[in-house]
This record gives sequence, C-alpha cells and structure tokens, in this order.
Amino acid sequence: MPTQSPPYLANHLLAAMPRSAAKKMCAALAPVRLVYGQVLYEPLAPIRYVYFPIDCLVSLLTAVDRERSLEVGMVGNEGMVGMPMVLGIGVSAVRALVQGSGSALRLSATQFRNEFAKSPPLQQALFRYTHLLMAQVSQTAACNRFHDAEARLARWLLMTADRLHADEFRLTHEFLAHMLGVRRVGVTMAASDLERKKLISYSRGNIHILSRRRLEAASCSCYRIVRDLQDKTHAA
Ligand SMILES: [Zn+2]
Repeated sequence: MPTQSPPYLANHLLAAMPRSAAKKMCAALAPVRLVYGQVLYEPLAPIRYVYFPIDCLVSLLTAVDRERSLEVGMVGNEGMVGMPMVLGIGVSAVRALVQGSGSALRLSATQFRNEFAKSPPLQQALFRYTHLLMAQVSQTAACNRFHDAEARLARWLLMTADRLHADEFRLTHEFLAHMLGVRRVGVTMAASDLERKKLISYSRGNIHILSRRRLEAASCSCYRIVRDLQDKTHAA
C-alpha cells in the first residue's frame, strides 16, 4: 500500500516546521472544506478559528463603504488565515472571503492560543509569514495606486494560479471587479486585452492561463517583488 503524506505537509507554513513539532499539532488540526463565497471573518467580529489552507484560496478584503471593498491580501497554502491571533488579537480587521473552494486545516482560537504559546517552531513560522503577508499587503497598496488594471489583473491571476496550483479556475468579471477595485467594464476590457494577446482564454466564467511566462511579462513588477522576497525569506 502506498503511504500517503500527512495533509499538513501540503501547507508550506506547517511543512516548514520541524517534523516533530508539526506532528504534535496534528491531533488538534481538523480538516474542513471551504467553499467559494464563504465568509470566514467579518471586520470587527471575533475570530473563532484559524485556517491553514491546503488547496483553497482566501481573500482579505478591506471595506471602503457599504458597497465597495478592495482586496488587500491573498492567502493560500503558503500561509494561515487569522493573523491577528499571532499578535494576540482575537478580532479581525478585514473580511476573509473564500475565493477558491478547497480544503484547509482548522484550529479553534483557544486551541491556537495553546499551540502557539507552547511551540517556538510555530511562533517562528508565523513570525516569518507575518512579515511576508505584511510585505504582500504593502505591495498591493502601492500596486492599487500606481498600476493599471491590465497589469494588476495579470498579477492577480498569477498569484491565484500559484496558490491554487492550477492554470485554470472559475471567476466572474463581477468578482474580479470587487477584488481589483475597478468597474466591471474595466475588468472586461483588461481581460479582453490579455485574451487578444493570447495570454489567457476566458469563457463562461472559466479563466485559463495559456502562457505563464508571457502573463508574467504583462504583469506589473509587484508580482516578482513579492515572489523574490518570499524566496529570500525562506532561504534566510
Ligand atoms: Zn503592481
């Protein structure tokens, strides 16, 4: 019988911990399935669980007013959803919205506090990830201010593909407009441009990346800056 690797190894943050420390946490980690559109946290609401994504994708959104919100961060299997808990804060500042269905490992807030207090390897992994997420959020702030919709869309598609480990995923223009903070027509134009250049194909809500290399060239520099920092941080 082939031996299957334990699910926690599919989350890079947990996999980066010494094996013995990660194994000790295993009993507390509950597998859950998260579905597209599910809201994990609302701003100012208590955090009941933290999540370590396996193959799902979670967007962190900041509300501007009742109608509008903007994506400020994205979490996949490189990280954890629930970062305020690392800083001892039990309330979320952002909305956490599942934008790619898939599985995750979950800990209750109480379990997380216990595990975090007694595990220096978990603390170290989460401090490292806090740094990376802050860098991603800062870069996204600059990106939203300086880069055009097409370059931002290309960056967003690459970041999504990296985290879902897939070059094909489902998305609507309306959803993308919310993520990128542009009008729906702006998303349609940007997507059409990328399609005309044969970097992606889009049909019935299905986006397919045709050339990663060329999509990276069409993306703004923000994609590469965050990737490089990630590589350097892991190598440090
Ligand atoms: Zn940018």
